[in-house]
Amino acid sequence: MKRLLTIVFSFFLLFNLAAQENYKTLSKEDSVKIYLGGEVYEVKNYLEKSKVQKPKNVILMIGDGMGVSQIHAGLTANKGNLFLNNFKKAGFSTTSSSNNYITDSAAGGTALSTGVKTYNGAIGVNPDTISVKTILEMAEEKGMATGLASTSSITHATPASFIAHQPSRNMYEEIAGDFLKTDIDVFIGGGYKHFTERKDGRNLADELRQKGYTVLQDLEAISKVKKGKLAGLTAPEHNGRVNERGNLLPVATETAINILKKDKDGFFLMVEGSQIDWAGHQNNTIYIIEEMLDFDKSIGKALKFAAKNKETLLVVTADHETGGMGINGGDIEKGIVKAGYTTGGHTGLMVPVFAFGPGAENFTGIMDNTDIAKKIMKLLGL
Ligand SMILES: [Zn+2]
Repeated sequence: MKRLLTIVFSFFLLFNLAAQENYKTLSKEDSVKIYLGGEVYEVKNYLEKSKVQKPKNVILMIGDGMGVSQIHAGLTANKGNLFLNNFKKAGFSTTSSSNNYITDSAAGGTALSTGVKTYNGAIGVNPDTISVKTILEMAEEKGMATGLASTSSITHATPASFIAHQPSRNMYEEIAGDFLKTDIDVFIGGGYKHFTERKDGRNLADELRQKGYTVLQDLEAISKVKKGKLAGLTAPEHNGRVNERGNLLPVATETAINILKKDKDGFFLMVEGSQIDWAGHQNNTIYIIEEMLDFDKSIGKALKFAAKNKETLLVVTADHETGGMGINGGDIEKGIVKAGYTTGGHTGLMVPVFAFGPGAENFTGIMDNTDIAKKIMKLLGL
């Protein structure tokens, strides 16, 4: 019996070694599906000690296309540690839109920004294309400071859903125009050309300056802004991948918080890790992990502030899952992840919700994406 076990075990070991060997000679198609480990960053522990029952500030962080597999891939790649591990309250959100079992980012973003289900493609409007007020606009009306940050163009579906009202997500120039109709304090992302190279000939960068905004394109310069109104447009359209854009999102998160926290009435900030979704569409595990870890580092910046401030609710969720990603193998000590995919599109899966700070206990169990918006509105008294 013992001998048999030894033989079985040896086979198992050989098989495992062979499997790991395979990682080194990957086919072209598989080469982006397997992550062979990379740089690991340190994750700090933050204690959740709320000073108040209801939050004064809310930071909503949306990992576009971020399902449980995307998070687990990031967790494995960083050898078991993520800033997300600090969250003690978690739940799940259902994501379908008003006209489709599987949502797109526009309807998903609008559900999270307004608490209203709408059709795929809709930006801040209901199924009858009527404008619906967003959390950001309600917060503004209440005198709170507001902000948006993303790694895509700032006019792209998710950030647009918080500030614009258009029947279609593709109306980038109209969406850029909607930024001027609000009093948003800080926005950082790509999309410069939607503000400056327009069919209507308007130069919205100049109009923003006339409204008192500092308009900048250089991240280093953006990071030095400590007060006032800031429009940081870091790319003509979307920002590049992490190797090109660097630590844009963690820096944008920190910069936005540092400006917004000066408002005595509190603030609402939405931060999006946009490209977890694009990587999922490509079924590219390496790209997914890069984006997941960049988003987690941004969560780390928000956590650092929330843990110290004690009056800030931090909610991290996704609009939908992308890729039907599964984890088929890996090694947490080596940071290796082997993933598989069921689709090049979005899926109808529930997505995780994490919450930290005053009011976090409201975000446990299974909820709908519209509930997340409603809970935040209620907690902020909007
Ligand atoms: Zn999305």
